[in-house]
Amino acid sequence: MSAATTQFPTATILAYPRIGRQRQLKRALEAYWAGRSSETELLEAASKLRQENLARLVELGLDASDASLADAPSFYDQVLDATVLLGAIPPRFAGRQGLDLYFALARGDEKVGPEEMTKWFDTNYHYLVPEIGPDTPLRFADDAVTRKFVQARQWGYVTRPVLVGPLTYLALAKADPATPDFDPLTRLDEAVAAYEQALASLHEAGAPWVQLDEPALTSDNLSHPRAELAKLAVGVYERLAKATNRPQILVTTPYGDASQAVGALAKTGVEAIHVDTLRGSLPKDADLSGVTLVVGAVDGRYIWRADLAALRQTLTAAQALGATKVAVATSNSLQHVPHDTALETWDDPTLNENLHAWLAFADQKVQEVVTLARGLDEGWEAIDGEVAEATRVLEQRAAAPGVVRPEVRSRTAALTDADRAREPYLEREAAQAQRLHLPPLPTTTIGSFPQTTEIRKARAANARGELSDADYQERMREEIAAVIKLQEELGLDVLVHGEAERNDMVQYFAELLDGFAATRNGWVQSYGSRCTRPSILWGDVSRPAAMTVGWSSYAQSLTDKPVKGMLTGPVTIIAWSFPRNDLPLGEIADQIGLALRDEVSDLEAAGIGAIQVDEPALRELLPLDAERHADYLDWSVGSFRLATSCVRPDTQIHTHLCYSEFGQIIDAIKGLDADVTSIEAARSKMEVVPELAEAGFDHGIGPGVWDIHAPRVPSQEELAQLIGLAADAVPVSRLWVNPDCGLKTRGYAETKASLENLVAATRQVRAERELNN
Ligand code: GLN
Ligand code: ZN
Repeated sequence: MSAATTQFPTATILAYPRIGRQRQLKRALEAYWAGRSSETELLEAASKLRQENLARLVELGLDASDASLADAPSFYDQVLDATVLLGAIPPRFAGRQGLDLYFALARGDEKVGPEEMTKWFDTNYHYLVPEIGPDTPLRFADDAVTRKFVQARQWGYVTRPVLVGPLTYLALAKADPATPDFDPLTRLDEAVAAYEQALASLHEAGAPWVQLDEPALTSDNLSHPRAELAKLAVGVYERLAKATNRPQILVTTPYGDASQAVGALAKTGVEAIHVDTLRGSLPKDADLSGVTLVVGAVDGRYIWRADLAALRQTLTAAQALGATKVAVATSNSLQHVPHDTALETWDDPTLNENLHAWLAFADQKVQEVVTLARGLDEGWEAIDGEVAEATRVLEQRAAAPGVVRPEVRSRTAALTDADRAREPYLEREAAQAQRLHLPPLPTTTIGSFPQTTEIRKARAANARGELSDADYQERMREEIAAVIKLQEELGLDVLVHGEAERNDMVQYFAELLDGFAATRNGWVQSYGSRCTRPSILWGDVSRPAAMTVGWSSYAQSLTDKPVKGMLTGPVTIIAWSFPRNDLPLGEIADQIGLALRDEVSDLEAAGIGAIQVDEPALRELLPLDAERHADYLDWSVGSFRLATSCVRPDTQIHTHLCYSEFGQIIDAIKGLDADVTSIEAARSKMEVVPELAEAGFDHGIGPGVWDIHAPRVPSQEELAQLIGLAADAVPVSRLWVNPDCGLKTRGYAETKASLENLVAATRQVRAERELNN
């Protein structure tokens, strides 16, 4: 390492949102994919956005020249960027280069399917899962990170490049499908060698610091437990630290608790270590002499203004641990929060005033970090004013109307186990067979049909006041009628109304429930160019009026086939909103569960025979710390059952889960006690079905046969084969046929073609197996 070392800055963040205040990256990507812009235009748009973001961070108080500016630009995903850096390209992508290769890995192309996508730790961000076998190349194959450093320096910024660390990279990888039992972590030495070269390249370009993100060190939910990863980390960082040709290294451990690993990491020779003190804690009994402790104090997950008095205490405690220096940062990358509260206004003037005081989005969080750093550098008196103001706002929030509502609190307090139990499954199964008259291998979809431009335009016009509510409702009814007609023509068995009226499966409910506030510009990247706008759950939740009954009963009035009512479950509403931080999640879930229970009862009373309560986020919120699993599964399952246990045995409860790795939550899936569970399965070629069966799951199951995340139409043969695989693994009487997920992001042409094939494939399997109707 060079003699000229720059001290670690006192104020920093782990990364800034990269989608852009106006979602510029989304627009640039989608224009490029649609062939409306060239590669050069895409590169220019991305570099302009990056330059704006860096300028903004400096405006907010971070230093331009001391490596404060964590820089993690990406066209799609940071894990995919690491795959490209390492040249770890699965063989099926051979022959592609540059952006064609990059986007083929992310989205597939005409010839190949993409890499699998899965959720990043306990967030709603999706990363592309590396596929590593014994022969997958692992070398320093792409110096984009160095080129970006050089480019930023030309603009006048000394950035701190951010990379997914080698341990986390391999811990998140899956085995190359050709060698399914291979453990990617056995390639760790080669990955570290590649990182050594990447670090050398950055050093030669003059980078004083590099940030290696190792969130795997906070998780028990990966293929290897946290304690084992911590041991491997020591070897990795001893080796990286030993290299002489490298920048100084910051290792980060966001999203959870790595405090057990910190002591050993501090001895490896790396210069700085970050801990997340919101989901984890400060290291105990660790000798930190010689390292900078970067305290992840400002919450990078949620959007509440910080309790500066409490964070000042955390930082004071950190100062007593004997580190060479204490710096302050966010708990994790700010990619999980929107850009700026200044972009929001709420119609209700009191709410508007309150939320502006109560909230901190990315830009406000950077300012909180800068304030706390001033306290560290200049003494705490220097920020007495800011601390007092933060405390005053917290007190005002706790007492504000709507935050605590006695009628909601007394309802949850009165709940008993009986409120969460239905009749035995076999009794329900018989009653539902009598009522619904479904063929073997019933076909259905997950709920949404394509959200066409016309639908979005109508909604936007309605929001602007250019289309009256009555006209908007009429437009949505026409859409529902068309979707019902299409499903009848296609020959599907259990229909859906298509969710045209929903802007989003969580926001729609958040807008109709008390206790939530939607945002206008609060976009957060979910994957690639896809962004979501989480609602803010700020108060006690209740349902002022029925939310979906009108739409569902209208749809049911158009057909003799059953139409599923469609609701979003409590855990998913919490996971895809920004929940309040002043009430346990379990209690919030029960408040939502009760509101949904009222809706379920109303749907049943309106004659709806099947009701789906989606819980695609059930696994997402699973705590990273294994010791907290049981408590989580208890309240999450409990809230689903609270929402769904009020119905008669002949009303069929469906649920939908959006991932295929459910190992740790299999008991929870069973515990939901839904009559039918649809689950993602296409990309993993149905491997979930035998796994579920072996785990003793014996209710109705609908493994997805069509991977709706990829823009391609699966053939009848391919679908029949997948249905056949599933039918070999579970009793056909309990097997359903459906896509992996909702169709809102697909177009109509591919939707029709794919569903036609899905129905034809189902009929083929029914005939081949002589399943009588
Ligand atoms: N019912 C929702 C839909 O079809 C489910 C979406 C999801 O699982 N994310 O759109
Ligand atoms: Zn889904």
